[in-house]
Amino acid sequence: MQITICFNNLDRSFKDLMHESKDLGYTVGSILSSPEANPKLIKNLKKGVMSFPLHLLPDNEAGFGSVCPKSSVECRKFCLNRAGNPAYLEGKLKARYERTKMFFKHKELYFTRLIKEIKRAKAKADKAGMQCGIRLNATSDLNYEKYYIKREGFAHGSNLMDWFPDVEFYDYTAVDKRTTPSNYHLTFSLKEDNFDTAILEFKRGLNIAIPFKTKRAWELPKTWQGIEVINGDEHDFRPLDKPNTIVGLTVKGNMDMTSPFFQEVIA
Ligand code: SF4
Repeated sequence: MQITICFNNLDRSFKDLMHESKDLGYTVGSILSSPEANPKLIKNLKKGVMSFPLHLLPDNEAGFGSVCPKSSVECRKFCLNRAGNPAYLEGKLKARYERTKMFFKHKELYFTRLIKEIKRAKAKADKAGMQCGIRLNATSDLNYEKYYIKREGFAHGSNLMDWFPDVEFYDYTAVDKRTTPSNYHLTFSLKEDNFDTAILEFKRGLNIAIPFKTKRAWELPKTWQGIEVINGDEHDFRPLDKPNTIVGLTVKGNMDMTSPFFQEVIA
């Protein structure tokens, strides 16, 4: 179902938007995070892509509704929401809480700020001679292609992908049957409870991302269910991946490898 958000004034300055945010009790400085926010995004820079992630609080952790309609028991346990330097975690979680609240409670403000920031991100990437990538669901799984932004007085709205045809949007998703514009690339996430759906999505043309029971990239299997496995840890910009493949991921940090979330490495 298409969701249309009507905008009264899309041309407010950053300063005005920050004032409005502050008046509503928000202190979060940006909707998008930096292209150096994590080591995998830094690897994208070496591929000529500046990627900007958007982090919300996953599932229903913020208490306003779920942003992960197909989350599973095990993916919630291993969600990357709490990954990274513990010294910065509290600040990161507070910012994610505020963005999630803004998404649910003040959509117009959320999308106005987001559009402004995507414009700024694109300009920054252009200046560096790089491609601009936007990862809208870095810690969520929302169907952004369904959100139509309509200026007051206009009959129709546009989603973010129509709005920015020169930007490559990309995400992992566990929501099946999504149809996205050509500049919104999806990779399907295999979890412990969605094998049949993953196979159907593969047949529909999506690559499948699979976390395998190994910490070492060279131990990834060559194939899974007869399908070629590529190393998904080389970078995070999934639109570069070879089609019709499995995107193999390794176990990070101290994650419990005995969980059914991780697939056996069978050569
Ligand atoms: S669906 Fe993704 S973002 Fe949501 S809880 Fe699971 S792993 Fe985290």
